Amino acid sequence: MTLDQPTDADRQRASEKNLERMRRYARTFAEKSGTYLHPHPEITEFLVIGLAKHIDELGRPLCPCNFYEDKVQEARSSEWICACDEMQRYKYCHCLLFVNEEGLPITEYLPPDHEGREIYGLIPDPIPDKGRALGRLEEKQGRELKKGSTPHTPEEPPPAD
Ligand code: SF4
Repeated sequence: MTLDQPTDADRQRASEKNLERMRRYARTFAEKSGTYLHPHPEITEFLVIGLAKHIDELGRPLCPCNFYEDKVQEARSSEWICACDEMQRYKYCHCLLFVNEEGLPITEYLPPDHEGREIYGLIPDPIPDKGRALGRLEEKQGRELKKGSTPHTPEEPPPAD
């Protein structure tokens, strides 16, 4: 498979400072969550550009793969701030930023009627002892939690400076 490389014009859509921040964040969070970055680095780079651009615009790394009616409003909620609720609950990244070694999203923990299961089938978690901080906490407490709703629930990891 050949993919377009991000061009300099693509990169100029975001500040160098936040591009570097998001590159570091992607590497660190993949390690911490027991996932991999995509085997095609250009996919990771496009996503990093989208996240960095959102930090420039909105102050937070809003997921670059959704359509939002109101980005400002959405950035106030934590649901789609990377790492989003789905990642922290199900270890599922629909953008393909955090994937298995083959570049497929992990779908093992998704509800059976979730569109990720319908699209990809069952993709097992390659490193089940890591990640899913919110999902694990919910299983322990037996109730649904919102990311960042208590001092004990995970928030998006602050990009390391
Ligand atoms: S973890 Fe969630 S917010 Fe981050 S890139 Fe993946 S789908 Fe988007």
